[in-house]
Amino acid sequence: MAKKEVSTDFYFAHDVDELDQLCRIFWADPQARHNFKLFGDVMSFDATYSTNRYKLVFVPFTGVDHHKKSVTFAVGLIAKEDVDSYTWLLEHFQMAMGKVPTCTVTDQDPAMRVAISRVFDTTRHRYCMWHIMTKVCEKVGPTLARNEDFLRSLNSVVWNETQTISEFEAAWQTVMEKHELVDHRWFTHLFEIREYWIPAFFNDMFMGGLMKTTSRSESENNVFNSCTSPHLSLTDFFIKFEKAIDKQRHTQTRLNADCEDKFPELKTTLLLERQAATTYTIAVFYDVQKEILEACFSSQIINKTVEGNIVRLEIEDTNKMMHSVEYNSATRTTHCTCNMFNRIGLQCRHALLSFKDACLERIPGQYITPRWTRTTCWPYAQLYANPEQGGPTEVLSGDTRMGTVFDEFFKCVGNAYGNTDRITELAQILKEYREKTTESMPQMETRAKKTDAVFLVGDVHGNVHS
Ligand SMILES: [Zn+2]
Repeated sequence: MAKKEVSTDFYFAHDVDELDQLCRIFWADPQARHNFKLFGDVMSFDATYSTNRYKLVFVPFTGVDHHKKSVTFAVGLIAKEDVDSYTWLLEHFQMAMGKVPTCTVTDQDPAMRVAISRVFDTTRHRYCMWHIMTKVCEKVGPTLARNEDFLRSLNSVVWNETQTISEFEAAWQTVMEKHELVDHRWFTHLFEIREYWIPAFFNDMFMGGLMKTTSRSESENNVFNSCTSPHLSLTDFFIKFEKAIDKQRHTQTRLNADCEDKFPELKTTLLLERQAATTYTIAVFYDVQKEILEACFSSQIINKTVEGNIVRLEIEDTNKMMHSVEYNSATRTTHCTCNMFNRIGLQCRHALLSFKDACLERIPGQYITPRWTRTTCWPYAQLYANPEQGGPTEVLSGDTRMGTVFDEFFKCVGNAYGNTDRITELAQILKEYREKTTESMPQMETRAKKTDAVFLVGDVHGNVHS
């Protein structure tokens, strides 16, 4: 309550039961709410801790930031893990954030499922695969739990991100029959709820980094390990929680600073790779670089047909997997059957090979997903934020030197933003520079206007609006 008094952006709500005892708390501080604006496309929430002497259950709402690190959006404490408590939490979450995530990931709690369908009417609800798969050994008994063939084949069916629904169903059936699990109650139930957790059902859906890390929940547990003692008072809990959050934010600040002055080593001479290194955060760049290297050295075009602007490529990759890519040279759009871009917002080796084949020097702007870029957290991003989506902005820079110019320019805009004197000063400096350069190099001025200053405003899914 005291925090709310000093900061109007601090969201806090509480509730008491029939005996006037505190039974529910929800809060989100200004930075947590801002994090949701930037990274709230996919969110997970867990209720796995009993964290204080009053047996209030701790429920953190978590996402993934642009460095692929856990980021906390809000927190709840509830006395009962029932539908009413979850509904209350989600209603306050929605009020605090003004929107709901595209996808919400939880464990298989039936009360959460009811509450989500009640309050988050537009979200897609997904069960955490990691939570489900950690139960396998305990459910199948000691013999099958030691059967490597069974575990390997079950894992390859369940975690397969490129198969279709019918391919999954057939493969699942084969594993169940082979290991005599057709009548197993737990597996039968898992199959019945397949649309809540199997990747084939989420192929059209942006999942950010959330499903990539199999132990996301585990790492989140580590963040809040210090606040999970059952002997803590609420005050002790809050102090420890704030410390854990400070640590999380300090890590993000440090990684943001690394992104301002460190550039990863390039492994090819492709301008595409150079652009990726200056555009994405370092952690995300390494993922992209891996795809670039796979495109260059481990994938090959088996068949190519050209029909007008449409180039169709059949590509075989490292795993001897075949994928089809359709590239449109007029619009610079590409689509690959592996669908990786739609799932995580980064281009796959197959699509990158289609860009390389078309001699593109840049990844087209519509495929740079703002939430993975270095500039996502910069203050200026808010200047261009799309009010509909609340999403950040992407600025397309030219070659590396032009990239440096844009970087400098936007850092200056960020420093001046909100300060009238500084804005006036910056405008004056720019005006003087423009007048000076117009006199000496008029032709450059004309060219720059047309080709270099390209701003694209995008939402969190990478849909770009010019
Ligand atoms: Zn692909």
